[in-house]
Amino acid sequence: MTQGLSRGVAAARRARSTDGMGRLLFQGVPDVADQSASLGSQSLSTVHRSLSTDADKLREECGVVAVHGHPDAARQVYLGLYALQHRGQESAGIASADGQHLANIKGMGLVSEIFTDDVLQKLPGTMAIGHTRYSTTGDSALLNAQPIRVDSTKGLIAIAHNGNLVNLGNVRARLERDGAYFQTTSDSEIIVQLIAHSNQHTLVDCIADSLSQVEGAFSIVMMTRDRIFAARDPRGFRPLSMGRIRNADGPDTIVFASETCAFDLLRAEYERDVLPGELVMVTDDGVTSRQFASGVPQSSCVFEHVYFARPDSRIFGRWVQESRDQMGRQLARESGVDADVVVPVPDSGVTAALGYAEEAKIPFRLGLIRNHYVGRTFIEPEQRVRDFGVRLKLNPVRNLLEGKRVILIDDSIIRGTTSRKIVRMVRGAGAKEVHLRISCPPTISPCFYGVDTPSKRDLIAANNSVEEIRRYIEADSLAYLSLDGLLKSCDNGDGNKYCTACYTGNYPTQWVDVDEILPAAASV
Ligand code: SF4
Repeated sequence: MTQGLSRGVAAARRARSTDGMGRLLFQGVPDVADQSASLGSQSLSTVHRSLSTDADKLREECGVVAVHGHPDAARQVYLGLYALQHRGQESAGIASADGQHLANIKGMGLVSEIFTDDVLQKLPGTMAIGHTRYSTTGDSALLNAQPIRVDSTKGLIAIAHNGNLVNLGNVRARLERDGAYFQTTSDSEIIVQLIAHSNQHTLVDCIADSLSQVEGAFSIVMMTRDRIFAARDPRGFRPLSMGRIRNADGPDTIVFASETCAFDLLRAEYERDVLPGELVMVTDDGVTSRQFASGVPQSSCVFEHVYFARPDSRIFGRWVQESRDQMGRQLARESGVDADVVVPVPDSGVTAALGYAEEAKIPFRLGLIRNHYVGRTFIEPEQRVRDFGVRLKLNPVRNLLEGKRVILIDDSIIRGTTSRKIVRMVRGAGAKEVHLRISCPPTISPCFYGVDTPSKRDLIAANNSVEEIRRYIEADSLAYLSLDGLLKSCDNGDGNKYCTACYTGNYPTQWVDVDEILPAAASV
């Protein structure tokens, strides 16, 4: 018998023809037929040019939230996703359940654009999960937005996943041979298909069985009609924390989120991290947990501390603010230079720059101002303006920079193009010298664990020496934080082990895409 999916496929097929910005996909919503619908006046169709000012940054992956035991669970998830918007701005979705129904609404765009009051009212129930996404695998389309809701032989399941599976091809091919029909091209659906095809007897056993067969990075939240699950891959690549809202007149509300900054908005207390290899289940009877894998060395993503996570979050047992402050201090100790001001590249360079300035005893100045109101698209002026994208987003404070020797602090150089524009901008504002300091080691290898990185051939540090990069970006000096310095800065004294593959090329899993790790010379 063909196991796997049945209902929902037709809706998915309908949605395929209408994928795109400004549309919502409804699945299982009471009194609404499964369909995709326009966001109407909120349509994002006035796209003139994709905003490329952050194109030289690594792109965030995804954020997930789950809430169990709250009368307005979907709205709580909405708030959590709002706090996690920095982890993905391409699409967002919320699924809710009330013990009987499991409804799912997702759309392209920002959380606040998709989930108006009207839309949230269509998501009743005391349980909900949510997802905000920047796609790392699968097409960038409404169908692949999450949560993914599937009607399987094990019942209705919704899943939201942060990370990237690396043995995808093999598992998918095996499942298709066994008769699986995939609704999406997202790797997250593989987990649900594995659950549907598992021979185990209980749902929790099927989930544990499924998770033990996939390799790579996954922090996931899942929901059935009456239960919430949360799990992290055995290496603990991506963060996932558990919190609690204490209710005076009833059982506590249990929440999960990619970052603890989401708990603050929900007034939830941080309780603990979901452990690597742990599967947590929440029902009306309480919280239970089991390990589906153990004995695998931990390799949490150190770049979460460098750039992705918000400084007001605590991930992998450590405050991000503390790590970034230490990175700045260590950078000052390793590669200090005489200068008049320390200037961060906002926003992500700010905390490290504060640490650097304090350690070096050089004044910290906000010499670059970021325009926070720049959307994802803009109308380009008719005449091409040099470095327009960067100018749109950043502007120098001329009176702070003129005649000064400036230390610029940033968190990464990927292709080098944006760094060059920023150095030129600071020099153009009258700086006498520009010294660029980077709060992590050179990025020399792509990530396969849920972070969108260019191929090795496009990473400037993979193919050039530090001196060659300095010349390219036109800085007076350039220095990176050492790998030892980075690990020391993120050390919590608890033996936490980090993945550093994008700085070393040493991948913690066997599965990598060989084509992606060819250097520039070998690719031509
Ligand atoms: S390769 Fe880099 S970005 Fe990817 S998980 Fe490892 S440390 Fe993080």
